[in-house]
Amino acid sequence: MGDPASPSSANPPAPRPGGLSLEEAAPLWDGFRAGNPVLCPEDTGPLALSVDGTSAYRLVCTRCGTASSWFEMGATGIQVRTATVPAPRNEDE
Ligand SMILES: [Zn+2]
Repeated sequence: MGDPASPSSANPPAPRPGGLSLEEAAPLWDGFRAGNPVLCPEDTGPLALSVDGTSAYRLVCTRCGTASSWFEMGATGIQVRTATVPAPRNEDE
């Protein structure tokens, strides 16, 4: 019944379900662009930037894996990427 000997303080960080909202990512992105270190809101781990193509970005915690949605630069700030990845074509004839 259970395992009373197991430590309870060694839980590895887990990514937050749903990841970072754009509202959270926006100031982090601003800080990142300004050259400031940006930290994960979940566990204060360092955030890294992922780039997809030339215009889509995502912030990912290198410690727990919490990530923002893919976003792109809009006229007034970042916005969730609206362009969907085109599905591969199986039949092109
Ligand atoms: Zn984290």
